[in-house]
Amino acid sequence: MERQQRIAVVPGSFDPITKGHMDIIRRAKPLFDKVIVLVVINAVKNPCFSLQERVELIRRVTSDLPNVEVDCSAELLADYARRRGSCVVLKGLRAGSDFENEFQMALINRKINPELDTMFLTASSEYMFLSSSLVKELASYGADLSDFLPAEIIPDFQRRIEQRRLSLQGGK
Ligand code: ADP
Repeated sequence: MERQQRIAVVPGSFDPITKGHMDIIRRAKPLFDKVIVLVVINAVKNPCFSLQERVELIRRVTSDLPNVEVDCSAELLADYARRRGSCVVLKGLRAGSDFENEFQMALINRKINPELDTMFLTASSEYMFLSSSLVKELASYGADLSDFLPAEIIPDFQRRIEQRRLSLQGGK
């Protein structure tokens, strides 16, 4: 009998994708036949990049990873996974602060779709502290971002931060 493809969905807001996200995606890759990086609409208020822009930036930095697909969706994650034939949500787990929220989301997703399990990869120590919101804050002070973001997206990100700064000043 033919084995079913093992497909993992890695959801997030990715505003923007960081080296911490990339680390999880690269480590997930050998564990599954396909990894779908899914940009979801969530509580990020006033995002830097539109969904489509985030998809484009992630495609750019994963173009060397053949079994990685990038998509976006406004569907419930549990419904998206069912539709795509995936039974694993894969997430990165940073410090204890991620735990409670992730535990709750994993339980809810499995309630909606009993075939869906959530798996966690622990963050690598060098990215344990890293989040997209921290990178946005650092960028607003003109900090060097090369330890935090894939090099290919830094110019786009800096340009966007600068545009936002100018439009905020203009609005005063
Ligand atoms: P954030 O805005 O906090 O960076 P996202 O919604 O984009 O978060 O994150 C999507 C997923 O990636 C979450 O499971 C989150 O725990 C994980 N993640 C985010 N940053 C890191 C990191 N530095 N190391 C490991 N996993 C991470």
